[in-house]
Amino acid sequence: MADYDPENIFAKILRNEIPSTRVFEDDETLAFMDIMPRTDGHLLVIPKTPCRNVLDATPEQLANVMNTVQKMAQAAKSAFDADGVTIQQFNEAAGGQEVFHLHFHVLPRHEGVSMRPPGNMGDFDQIAQHAEKIKAAL
Ligand code: AMP
Repeated sequence: MADYDPENIFAKILRNEIPSTRVFEDDETLAFMDIMPRTDGHLLVIPKTPCRNVLDATPEQLANVMNTVQKMAQAAKSAFDADGVTIQQFNEAAGGQEVFHLHFHVLPRHEGVSMRPPGNMGDFDQIAQHAEKIKAAL
């Protein structure tokens, strides 16, 4: 497995070198909105410390991230009055990973509503509004 690349896009978000729509952070983790949302309220949770994915993460990184994933899943479900929440996570390119800093997707879901196809840029103003709804539900 390749080494962690400190120039990956989420590392740049952590260093505030590129913008993001943050919804929650603590000492160990950050949650921010996905720019290509596959459902309304689609967000990502990452550790603040470097690791590529689940395969090289420490138990502490995994525990910290999962605590925030649960918190964000509860908030997103409440904010969107969702029926359920999909949590996705990919490891290495063959596993579907595109950004090589550990991240979990949190997607509020409604009965009978499919996720949108991947790769479509979201509307910035709408993503910002969705972020405010999630923050209010925390
Ligand atoms: P994957 O590595 O397959 O889990 O996919 C990476 C995810 O990161 C995709 O859902 C992208 O839409 C998302 N993404 C990529 N760049 C950014 C960014 N600058 N801000 C927020 N989300 C991003």
